[in-house]
Amino acid sequence: MLRILHSITYYALMAAVLVGTAQAQSGPVQPAAQPSRPTFETKKVEGTDNVYIFRYQNHQAMFVVTRDGVIATDPIGYGRPQAVTTYVAEIKKVTKQPIKYLIYSHHHFDHIAGGKPFKDAGATIIAHNNAKARLAVLQDPATVLPDETVDTSRTIKLGDTSIELSYVGLNHSDSSLVIRLPHEKIIFAVDFIPVGSIPGRAMIDSYPLEWEESLKKVIAMDWERLIPGHPGPGGRLGTREDVQNFLTFLQDASAEVRVAARAGKCWDPVEKEMKLPKYAHWPEYEQGLPFVLRRYCGLWGRGF
Ligand SMILES: [Zn+2]
Repeated sequence: MLRILHSITYYALMAAVLVGTAQAQSGPVQPAAQPSRPTFETKKVEGTDNVYIFRYQNHQAMFVVTRDGVIATDPIGYGRPQAVTTYVAEIKKVTKQPIKYLIYSHHHFDHIAGGKPFKDAGATIIAHNNAKARLAVLQDPATVLPDETVDTSRTIKLGDTSIELSYVGLNHSDSSLVIRLPHEKIIFAVDFIPVGSIPGRAMIDSYPLEWEESLKKVIAMDWERLIPGHPGPGGRLGTREDVQNFLTFLQDASAEVRVAARAGKCWDPVEKEMKLPKYAHWPEYEQGLPFVLRRYCGLWGRGF
């Protein structure tokens, strides 16, 4: 009897282990720690009078309400036009002011597709020069071309608010802007400063060496809180320490792969065997690391 009980216990345990393994291997596409999170949410940023974060699923954007109108960023409507109409409706719940500007953080569709409702509401769309040039070639039917562009920097003044748009060079894309609120000491920066996680697919079309330089420029800017384009762990905002930690991560990954690449180990040995245990506790480590290693093998093993 005891043996049967043992067997039952053993099989129950094995079943639990197998289920657990299957869950772990399938991997969380969305952050698994927040199962009860609503589809979308609008939150005023703590300590500000007029700065808001609109989140839809795992993308988010910042909007600022001024005396004379609203400055919004990133429509985040790729594959889901309802996210954009929801975004506009959420702004209208907060203020009757018209939406004057829509700023694209960079040219990737998951952040900027679907902007037509903003355009229809009268917004002027602004992006970096390189974003406009790229979008003009791609002619994505869901993505509205910018009306105006930024080269190195531009300040938008609306009502009593100033917003600074700065280009800090090549990084995750060739068109990333830092959108800074000097009074609130807040920046909005998307994908090139992941908050406490491994970048993964964000590496695909990146410029790894220049990326490090652009992070140093962000560190040199005057700000205290970072609103990322994907929520940080638990929805938290980024800090200066996050930027420094991420810069150190890129430098560590780059240095490790450079040694291996020069020993002839790109692609397979690096992609299949290399680990960066110092970062194993960061969210997305397992899923993201292969993309990081592949990008650095491209750099140090092939020269691109
Ligand atoms: Zn991106």
